Amino acid sequence: MTENDIRISFEFFPPKTDAGREKLKKVREQLANLQPEFFSVTYGAGGSTRDNTRSIVEEITREELAVAPHLSFGGDTEEMMRELIQQYQNIGVKRIVALRGDRPSGMGGGVSMVYANELVAFIREHFGEHFHLEVAAYPEIHPEAPSYDADIKYLQGKFDAGADSAITQYFYNPDAYFYFHEACDKIGIDKPIYPGIMPIINFQNLQRFSQKCGAEIPRWICKRLDGFGDDEASLKAFGLDLVTELCETLLENDAPGLHFYTMNQAEHCLKIIDNLGLISAD
Ligand code: FAD
Repeated sequence: MTENDIRISFEFFPPKTDAGREKLKKVREQLANLQPEFFSVTYGAGGSTRDNTRSIVEEITREELAVAPHLSFGGDTEEMMRELIQQYQNIGVKRIVALRGDRPSGMGGGVSMVYANELVAFIREHFGEHFHLEVAAYPEIHPEAPSYDADIKYLQGKFDAGADSAITQYFYNPDAYFYFHEACDKIGIDKPIYPGIMPIINFQNLQRFSQKCGAEIPRWICKRLDGFGDDEASLKAFGLDLVTELCETLLENDAPGLHFYTMNQAEHCLKIIDNLGLISAD
């Protein structure tokens, strides 16, 4: 928590190479200075990064930093899941981001998947209240949801199953978050919903990513970013201003904190947080 009780957290993906791990260690050192509530580590679609995620989580716990592994059933059995969660409990993990996850590409649509509310219930059944459980929320609505209202109902189902708080998919239109928050409020969801923040680092990657996960980049932002072409410095400067303003608007309107999708880079998050004047890294 910051002095203003704003919760800050940072998300990493597990690197595939030793060089990537070394780099991430340095990124972590820089971000740890900001005293985030936790670092989270993603879990590849279908459990494809099972060992890699666990090994980064172990590394972070050895540094005595709070860490939240992301987790989904993927193709695992209940026994395998229990074992993995038990290992997390044994090394002192106190928080999990519980997800349905996505199918790995090539797996096809025929395989049945375990919804996140079922994973939340499973963890509560076997591990009681040990873990703080985060779940995913979608201010612009999950691409597979049958309707706006249904998606919010399913979010409520995750809280009813025992989730403590939610982290959102990233978005660039703060009204999507405010409207969503209000809609959640109306059906009685009273748990905190932390906005997910994606710094703008590379337009092509962001576009590809956004198409995949259903996050909207407003047209005017797309046009602006596209217009920068190879001028990386101008793109980053624009992105920094834009995301800082987004965070300001969110916090001024009572968002309870910010969860940064770091893309394993510290620079942009550090600058945004510095711009916001939330915490000094000294
Ligand atoms: P669910 O909440 O289970 O929802 C999935 C879909 O099914 C939605 O359309 C929902 O409306 C619908 N639904 C939900 N419950 C039910 C139900 N009981 N019956 C019928 N329909 C239902 N992906 C990864 O692979 N690895 C990660 O580490 C990862 N981390 C993420 C972190 C955050 C903060 C966010 C926002 C997303 C993350 N994702 C990750 C992406 C996520 O896995 C995908 O968006 C996935 O498609 C949905 O996961 P979920 O937990 O939201 O699923």
